[in-house]
Formats: sequence, structure tokens, C-alpha cells
Amino acid sequence: MAKTRSHVRRIGVLTSGGDAPGMNSAIRAVVRASVHHGIECLGIRRGYNGLINGDVVELKAKDVNGLITRGGTILYTARCPEFNTEEGLQKAANSIKYLGMDGLIVVGGDGTFRGARDVSRYGVNVVGIPGTIDNDVACSNYTIGFDTACNTAMHAIDKLRDTMQSHERCSIVEVMGRNAGHLALYVGIACGATAMLLPELPYNFDKDVAEKIRGGRIRGRTHHLIIAAEGVGHIDELATSIKEETGMDPRVTILGHIQRGGSPTARDRVTASRMGEMAVRTLLEGKRNRVIVISNREMVDLDMDEALAMEKGLQISMLNAAYILTQI
Ligand code: ADP
Repeated sequence: MAKTRSHVRRIGVLTSGGDAPGMNSAIRAVVRASVHHGIECLGIRRGYNGLINGDVVELKAKDVNGLITRGGTILYTARCPEFNTEEGLQKAANSIKYLGMDGLIVVGGDGTFRGARDVSRYGVNVVGIPGTIDNDVACSNYTIGFDTACNTAMHAIDKLRDTMQSHERCSIVEVMGRNAGHLALYVGIACGATAMLLPELPYNFDKDVAEKIRGGRIRGRTHHLIIAAEGVGHIDELATSIKEETGMDPRVTILGHIQRGGSPTARDRVTASRMGEMAVRTLLEGKRNRVIVISNREMVDLDMDEALAMEKGLQISMLNAAYILTQI
């Protein structure tokens, strides 16, 4: 593809909020696309902290060699409460001007995009790339890291199932997702769970848990897997209730941060690579304040303000399938 003519000479890239597998693949794509178009790319370290403190490093093609396979983020990530203040935003905007950046690419979730929108009001052009294992970014059907996290959780639960089978046990497995149930729903279907508890849908213990375990037992099921999203909470109380109602002694497994690591799957590598390349092109085309998203299977860019005003629920067709499949 021909190199783009543009007034953009130097851009910055940062990762912010919770890390997700594929963030490195996105950084690599941003750097390689920058090199292709003959512009400089600065890596900003530790999320918005790096902007405030001027903690930046120039990234060349050699710096991202071999990065596509690596989980985590070489730029580190952090939360930065100071960025929620006028003073913090002003400091960041000053750094951006001082460093001569003509555009900023941020990889993260909704919080990260709110920060980007706020700093854009100081005249900085920003582009967002959705990266979080929670898939809870409203404007995009898909966020980088979700597929890898689903697979990591699924493989861990498959191992757990072997021992559940041997001991005829009931297990409650908590998966991540913050306040959203996308990961729990997907993993629950993938692992053939007895029940999935999601923060979006208040559950009735008797009908949605105890009855399913009792019914399963009558039909010859010897072990039972309950997947709970972290946003549901009270997992120990749930275990106690199951013990009291069914006589089974459930084991609680919290998968935790394991889900945030690991080499990204092909889906995450390819999505991150395409989004990174597109983010650079979007800046070069002179578009202002955009988010790269997947919408109806296409990769498109949306206005940042419109993107932040959107809401996202669980996919109804997937919920219906989960409902039917956990009835017997
Ligand atoms: P995520 O991007 O995964 O949703 P957070 O919600 O923790 O993660 O946000 C990441 C960072 O983005 C915050 O630590 C802060 O630096 C910045 N941020 C979040 N919300 C705002 C806001 N309203 N204004 C300015 N910065 C924000």
C-alpha cells in the first residue's frame, strides 16, 4: 500500500487499565504501521502516568520483534487517578505538546477511553483500541484479549472437571469479567456448566442452582459445575447454601489473574494487529477522536463521544442457548 501523505510526524501509544493478551500484538502493529508510513512512534509507559511524568521511549521496528506471541504489555499498564483531575489532564496535554506528538493511540477499556476523550479537549487527537478480557466495551462487539481469556479459563476448567468426575464433586468456579457476564456466559457454554450466574441477571438460588443440581443427579449426573462471574460476588455463601440444600460439599476455585496472561490466540493476534494498523491509518487520515471497533463483523472507526454513550448487554441469542442447554 502507498505511504500516506499527512502532517502527522510523531505519535504515541499506551496501554491502560487491566492488561489483556494481545495488547503487545497491538503495540507491535502500531509501531510497524508507523515505520511503514515513515512516522515516529513513542511508547508511553504505565498508562496515563507515563504521559503525566513524561515516561516515554521511542519504539522502532526492532523493539517489537517477536512481540506478537507475548502476553502482557511491554509498556506496562496502570490505573492513574490523577488523570481524573483537571490538573492531571493539563500536565498530560503539556507533555504531549512538549514531546511533539500529533496523535495518541490508547489501548484499554471504557475508562481508558474516557481519559482519552478528556485529554482530547486540550487539542490532542486520540484513537482508542478496545483491549480487555471482559469484552465489556459498549461500542465494540469484541475486545482484544477476550478469546484468549475464554480459552485459558476453559482449559483450566477442563482439568478441574477430571478431578470433579473422580470425586463426584460439585465445583463453583469464579471467572473474571468485572461487572459483566460475557466471559462467564461464554466459558459456561464452552465447559458444559450445570449453571451460569451472571451479574446482569439476578438469580434465584432454588430454581437456578439447587434444582439444577437435584435434577441432574436424578438423571445420573455425578458432578456439577457452577460458573459464577466475579460481579455476582458472595461465592462462599453460595457454597454454604449448596451444601445445606443438596448435601454436596462444593469446592470453590477462583481462576483470577491467570485469565489475564498467556500467549494470545490467533483471533486476538489478528484482531489486535488489524486494529493497531487501522488506528495509525485513522490518525494519518486526519480523523479526530475515534475508536476502532468491531461492528456487524466489520472493523470500523466510531466517534469517541458516540462510542462512550453506548450501552452493551449480554447477547440474547447466547443467553437463550445457555438457558436451554442447562435445563437438563
Ligand atoms: P479500563 O480502561 O480497563 O476500563 P479503568 O476504568 O481502570 O480501566 O480506567 C483506566 C484509567 O483511565 C484510569 O486509571 C484513569 O487513568 C483513566 N480514566 C478512567 N476514567 C476517567 C475519566 N472519567 N477521566 C479521566 N481519566 C479517566
